[in-house]
Amino acid sequence: MNLEHHFASLGEAFSSKTLIQPLHEQRLVEFNQSLATFLSIDIKSNETKRILSGEEALPSSLSMVYAGHQFGGFSPQLGDGRGVLLGEVRGQDGRLYDLHMKGAGLTPYSRRGDGRAVLRSCIREYLASEAMTALSVPSSRALALYDSREAVYRETPEAGAMLLRTAQGHIRFGHFEYFFYQGKQDELDQLIEYCLKHYYPDSLKAQSPLEDMLTEVVKRTARMVAKWQAVGFQHGVMNTDNFSFTGETIDYGPYGFMEDYEPNWVCNHSDYEGRYAFSRQPGVGLWNLNCLMRCFSKHLERDQLIAILKCYEPELQAHYDVLMMKKMGLNSVDALHELLPPLLVILAAEKMDYTVFFRILSHLEKDDFTPLLDEVVDRERLNQWLDRYLSIRLSEQSNWEQTGNLMLQTNPKFILRNYLAHEAILAAERGDYLPFRRLLNVLNTPFDEHPESSALAQRAPEWGKSLEVSCSS
Ligand code: AMP
Ligand code: MG
Ligand code: MG
Repeated sequence: MNLEHHFASLGEAFSSKTLIQPLHEQRLVEFNQSLATFLSIDIKSNETKRILSGEEALPSSLSMVYAGHQFGGFSPQLGDGRGVLLGEVRGQDGRLYDLHMKGAGLTPYSRRGDGRAVLRSCIREYLASEAMTALSVPSSRALALYDSREAVYRETPEAGAMLLRTAQGHIRFGHFEYFFYQGKQDELDQLIEYCLKHYYPDSLKAQSPLEDMLTEVVKRTARMVAKWQAVGFQHGVMNTDNFSFTGETIDYGPYGFMEDYEPNWVCNHSDYEGRYAFSRQPGVGLWNLNCLMRCFSKHLERDQLIAILKCYEPELQAHYDVLMMKKMGLNSVDALHELLPPLLVILAAEKMDYTVFFRILSHLEKDDFTPLLDEVVDRERLNQWLDRYLSIRLSEQSNWEQTGNLMLQTNPKFILRNYLAHEAILAAERGDYLPFRRLLNVLNTPFDEHPESSALAQRAPEWGKSLEVSCSS
């Protein structure tokens, strides 16, 4: 394993040396072989195993310092309270990837926390980050899961665990906020240089590299949020310390994937005001970018910063439109803008399962609407919509079947339903990782039929609809 130490070379103002503190009777229980191969990591090597798990101390490992706006209020100093960056490795695409362990023990930034993570939350993050990757949403990824016999106390004692994850970067909007509000101008400049060099090298060729990079950050963020809206993902804690400068989905806590369509859904039971409700995510993305832009108010004029922010909405809308056109098998934005709003009204009124609807729509034959009509109460309303949909889709597309096949590659059969994650967690807590692996397998290739696992495409039973997720992790 060729571990590099670029972030560490930034020096002491940016992080604190921190070792992984292994858990009591820790075991490697799951390993992402294809990701390891991509990163040229040989997990069979004992030395690699010992470094990754923290059994062998890695002197250059560190925890990062950052700040962030949490639920609207500014926290001047947060940081990796339970995370350790081991360093970076190069992927087969030539890019560098961070290796980061979550739940690694106390750090200088742990504040009142215990530095640990529970098995429940590590499994939830493993499943979600791999599911998002399979759905083409930029995301951190899971490389390895460790469980243990160490008790970690949340509402009740739970099993402690660690998750080794990768991402192009772990630099958050909150990193810039930390240096800006501390008045550390030199460090802020250093961080800008670092990001240009490592993440936005193309911007170095621009007349104003900083402006160019920030425009790209705005666009990446817009496309990421557009993807969330299209797949029905709700992040749950869109604080600026959980927003990555590289436009990747990070920090999976009380997230959720939309089941019954409900635009104002709030998955996080600790989000009492619904600040991060599904329908609010696009607006919050802009709010967060606004916080980020303020950090460059000594580098760029106000008008320049506003001009950069103005790229957000059109980029998000255009990207969302493309994704939804694919989901619906449509070719034109006009058709989408006529058909999508009334469809969403129907889905909300019927509390229709978002994933099931688009999957059936992909399979639908043009002379038989019954598979979809059987799903709703108001058949007449949906039938009218389908008539209009049929005529528009046919006027755009001569080949109904071909379009249907393309739609099946966009509309997954399997999404990460909360009750399925819950069952996988309960089994894993008993030491049985089979349900977790079965679920992971379908989430890795969610567009395939997997006839042997069709049960994992089923909607939640009654007990599974009322499960609560919170910030406790
Ligand atoms: P989050 O809401 O997950 O983004 O966490 C907010 C902050 O709390 C971050 O700085 C985390 O590192 C820190 N944190 C969360 N859980 C713990 C924990 N169990 N121990 C120490 N710090 C934590
Ligand atoms: Mg966080
Ligand atoms: Mg978190």
